[in-house]
Amino acid sequence: MSRTAETVWKNCLLFIKDNITDQAYITWFQPIKAVRLEKGILSIQVPSKFFYEWLEEHYVKLLKISLTKELGKNAKLVYIIKMENTYGKKQPFTEKIPSSQREKVSSQEVDVPIRNKDPKLKNPFVIPGIRNLKIDSQLNHSYSFDNFLEGESNRLARSAGKAVANKPGGTSFNPLLIFGGVGLGKTHLVHAIGVEIKDKHPHKTVLYITAEKFSQQYQEAIRKNNRNDFIHFYQIIDILIVDDIQMLSGKPGTQDVFFHIFNHLHQNGKQVILTSDKSPVDMQDIEQRLLSRFKWGLSAKLDVPDYETRLKIIHNKLYRDGVEIPEDVIEYVGKNIKTNIRELEGAIISLIAHSSFNKEEITLESAKAIVENYVRNTKKEVSIDYIQKVVSDYFQMDVKTLQSKTRKRHIVQARQLAMFFSKKLTKASLASIGAQIGQRDHATVLHACKTVNNLASTDKKFKQYVVDLEKQLSI
Ligand code: ADP
Ligand code: MG
Repeated sequence: MSRTAETVWKNCLLFIKDNITDQAYITWFQPIKAVRLEKGILSIQVPSKFFYEWLEEHYVKLLKISLTKELGKNAKLVYIIKMENTYGKKQPFTEKIPSSQREKVSSQEVDVPIRNKDPKLKNPFVIPGIRNLKIDSQLNHSYSFDNFLEGESNRLARSAGKAVANKPGGTSFNPLLIFGGVGLGKTHLVHAIGVEIKDKHPHKTVLYITAEKFSQQYQEAIRKNNRNDFIHFYQIIDILIVDDIQMLSGKPGTQDVFFHIFNHLHQNGKQVILTSDKSPVDMQDIEQRLLSRFKWGLSAKLDVPDYETRLKIIHNKLYRDGVEIPEDVIEYVGKNIKTNIRELEGAIISLIAHSSFNKEEITLESAKAIVENYVRNTKKEVSIDYIQKVVSDYFQMDVKTLQSKTRKRHIVQARQLAMFFSKKLTKASLASIGAQIGQRDHATVLHACKTVNNLASTDKKFKQYVVDLEKQLSI
């Protein structure tokens, strides 16, 4: 039976496919062409030098085993690098291997005749600002799923994250967008996903980057005239995690380049994971075409944790730090610090620090002093609940009335004032304000803000409401 390069390579591929992930197979083996088979030497064509280096580094053993199975122990493999033509060359061409080099191919090793012919060829991993990405995903290994405690507030986001970690690029959660206010665990969760992917799929290239750094790198690439390298670099990532994408707002150039990278990754079944402090609906100064991409996958919100979850988080933190605190103190902290998890952790840390510094037991009394101080110092932002309460009291109605669907003028005005001050005094999004003030949508809140501004400048009595309320709300 006469065997051709193609049939031999086909059998090798069957074996390889069984031994690696689908993604790796698609990325690294499907693009290879078997070119010829001569005297036990199989020549394969790979798309770039980078490609060959990657195969050598990660799959040389697998290649050797599969080829030996097919051609016996004297089998040899030769790579032919199809030259990249991104540097101004006209036509891609296939490099001919001089026969003198071909003979040097060792019989023991799967060997490669072409090595570093052009030492100036850029290693796509070397991008200013990030080095050694081959190994370094920029992940923080202290953030894991184990210490990301589950609660009602994060259940969807957490389980979507788990699903993505199991099958990056293989779920409909692509992109996965995690959004929510500060200190609610966005960064923690996306690191946990990245760390778990690295664990389960060690061959995958994972990269964590903040949108801000991404943007800086891009500016630098533009300055140094290597926008293409920048794009190529990001296009070879299997799992790209971009934190705080709201930072891309108002940066059309960076958005544009991100759009192209995103499309490339998405089309090739790579996973994109994003975080933002706002839902896609509320993102401002982000191009529509990019926003619509964000909606392709799943947007999962992180909410403020409820009391139960806050207690779980405190217990876990104390346990990990090996510190014991009386239960009544824990409950006191859990009840009083509700803004976000970062502040919860901050309060616990200062409690521990205080007691070890003063060599005192932590008692409810000492905790009260610290927590009060803590809450006063950090709580510059009033809550939407509080605003609704103050406005309702001012107009002598209860909060339910303020939130009701009625169109009575004075109630509508009270509601609009509550929305106006929520926008002004909190970081909450229009949508989230609307949701909390009687289930209205973001357009209603926007309209309310405009109306209040208009009335305040035309109606004296109304202006007085605004001035009074402003005083009461500024603590
Ligand atoms: P964000 O990126 O949303 O501002 P972070 O991810 O930085 O918030 O989280 C703030 C702090 O809260 C971190 O120390 C993080 O470990 C902790 N944290 C957040 N969510 C959880 C959780 N579900 N369980 C335990 N710790 C959490
Ligand atoms: Mg963060």
